[in-house]
Amino acid sequence: MKKKELDWEKLGFDYREIDKRYVANYSDGKWENGTLSSKSDIVINESAGVLQYCQQVFEGLKAFTTKDGSIVTFRPDLNAERMMDSAEVLQIPPFPKEKFLEAVDLVVEANAEWVPPYGTGAALYLRPFIFASKPVISIEPAEGYQFRLFGTPVGPYFKGGVNPLTLCVSEYDRAAPRGTGNIKAGLNYAMSLRAHIEAHENGFDENMYLDAETRTFVEETGGANFIFVTKDKEIVTPKSETILPSITKRSILYIAENRLGLKVSERPVKFEELEEFAECGVCGTAAVISPVGKVVNEDKEITFPSGMEEMGEVTKKLYDTLTQIQLGDIEAPEGWIRKIV
Ligand SMILES: *Cc1c(COP(=O)(O)O)cnc(C)c1O
Repeated sequence: MKKKELDWEKLGFDYREIDKRYVANYSDGKWENGTLSSKSDIVINESAGVLQYCQQVFEGLKAFTTKDGSIVTFRPDLNAERMMDSAEVLQIPPFPKEKFLEAVDLVVEANAEWVPPYGTGAALYLRPFIFASKPVISIEPAEGYQFRLFGTPVGPYFKGGVNPLTLCVSEYDRAAPRGTGNIKAGLNYAMSLRAHIEAHENGFDENMYLDAETRTFVEETGGANFIFVTKDKEIVTPKSETILPSITKRSILYIAENRLGLKVSERPVKFEELEEFAECGVCGTAAVISPVGKVVNEDKEITFPSGMEEMGEVTKKLYDTLTQIQLGDIEAPEGWIRKIV
């Protein structure tokens, strides 16, 4: 397979327009057949539901080139299912799983030259989303929607080595109890931007959010779930109704238990417990796992024993195993890899 002439290793996480995207519209109560399109611009009415009342849900996944030159995606069926769950909450008609998978296949195949070569650490990031395209002005779900899936090549997350993150406990809350924290929707990000910018201005990489009800339990960062490693090498991850069920996290828990033979527990995690953990990481599609070196809460600082220089030993094992599975370097659990080309 011929690839584009790009400096793959130097790519950041930015939007770059590529050749084809998939578009399907919903009207008259049904999803029409989708097609590939060369047009990246969208024309919608000024009163479209997405512009007025933020009716939008999205997903994020990656396509990789394997050593033998095939192109694969990682567990896209789970993205399809999660997007149906998100859509239901925002009264958006769910996009059928089979069509979602077909859209992934078509876009990846049509843009195969944009899927970074094996060994560069880069990937083709895929962004499926649905938005309300028809006008509304009174408060109600729109009558028309568009599902769209585009791709953009993104670089390796850890350029020039791993730098453990420093987090601050946010004074803001990310998600209300019984609210929308457990769905993947643009609205959860719009409201997190102020906290994000303030954290950066204060020299932090990311926010750690606590539960809004009691502010005593750890939830997640703006866009990644936590995993902790105890001194006895047990994997602990927060259980909460208001965090987004990360596919990376679910995969890490499976690998920890079934490949590395580690004990795993998903349970509420008190902020006070942090001092007892040996390692901390945040996980999501973008980085797989980024190690966290330090968490700051007002004048209290917690530095994990794994330190500010490298990934902790267990975090590294999980990271290596999962990335090798994604790239087809080691055998994947049944059904995790979808071969496209
Ligand atoms: C997407 C997302 C994650 C990570 O989920 P993955 O499926 O692992 O990419 C975590 N938290 C939030 C709020 C997210 O939107």
